[in-house]
Amino acid sequence: MYQLPFDRPGRFYRGNLHTHSTRSDGALPPEAVVEAYQQQGYDFLALTDHFLDSFGFPITDTRALRSPDFTTLLGAELHAPRTELGMPWHIIAVGLPLDFAPPAADETGPALASRAAASGAFVGLAHPAWYTLSPNDARSVAAADAIEVYNAGTAQWNDRGDAWYLCDLLLAGGRRLNAYAADDAHFLSTPPTAFVAWVQVRVASLTPEALLAALKAGRQRNHYGLLARPGHHSRRSTCTRPLEARGRCDQRDVLARRIHGFLLPHYRDRPAQAASLVESYLA
Ligand SMILES: [Zn+2]
Ligand SMILES: [Zn+2]
Repeated sequence: MYQLPFDRPGRFYRGNLHTHSTRSDGALPPEAVVEAYQQQGYDFLALTDHFLDSFGFPITDTRALRSPDFTTLLGAELHAPRTELGMPWHIIAVGLPLDFAPPAADETGPALASRAAASGAFVGLAHPAWYTLSPNDARSVAAADAIEVYNAGTAQWNDRGDAWYLCDLLLAGGRRLNAYAADDAHFLSTPPTAFVAWVQVRVASLTPEALLAALKAGRQRNHYGLLARPGHHSRRSTCTRPLEARGRCDQRDVLARRIHGFLLPHYRDRPAQAASLVESYLA
């Protein structure tokens, strides 16, 4: 039985694993983003700017912004062609080296994820619901550590923040991934999609190395909701491997309804195709 991390040495530290700055399409420079999170009581932050040619393939260097009570992890949001539905991949890699090489033109998303993991990174499948990442896509990323089960940005922009469906589907097929919640903050909207979804990672000391090892081992719990917004309800998940606890991953009909629900916006005129996709996902 998997043990939740509550009795491990140390304490929980709060951080955000998916954030953008002016090094890609965010509104604030890296220093301002780090300061904003620090002021909100966070213990660590990963800036994950889009690793694209148009932005100069940035691995935003935040090492100079570390202090005894706040640290940073180096990372990026990686992109490569193409998911099952023809979208470019969105893969969060936290713990990348600064000299991580840009992808070759023919490097696929799963291959890029493997290269990131081989360099030591924690690999997460970003906002799956937002771009309809399919279960086949998710299964193809052998190097994935976790699924981004809640993304505050896509929740605000498209009402597509939740991706538990994908965890359930993968677990039903025997693939166990961890879960993390993240802001995907760009500081472009009002209110910003910041300080809404975060992880709390259990470590003995606040160092990038310890955080990374704990993340890869699944020693985090997730919080998300509109906790900082007076008048709104909040939600919280406290499980790192919550799927067994949720006890409904063998309910084929529930899964079928959920899959159909996320396919529907894209297959309104093709109900038969949607139905056959549901069957193939559950096969
Ligand atoms: Zn993205
Ligand atoms: Zn992003």
